[in-house]
Amino acid sequence: MMELAERKVNCPYCGEVIDILIDCSVAQQNYIEDCQVCCRPITFDITVDAEGELYVLLSSEND
Ligand SMILES: [Zn+2]
Repeated sequence: MMELAERKVNCPYCGEVIDILIDCSVAQQNYIEDCQVCCRPITFDITVDAEGELYVLLSSEND
């Protein structure tokens, strides 16, 4: 099953709200994507639990 969820998150650098698309069929994801506003690399740690609940953790390069 392929399911995409859209989430609004705040960039850890510039604080702007950015939209991300999450593939809910993958339980554990870790990737780096540049902020759409300030273009700095954000690390995304995404967990989907058994109930399909999404947990999104963002960190900056400096953390
Ligand atoms: Zn930013």
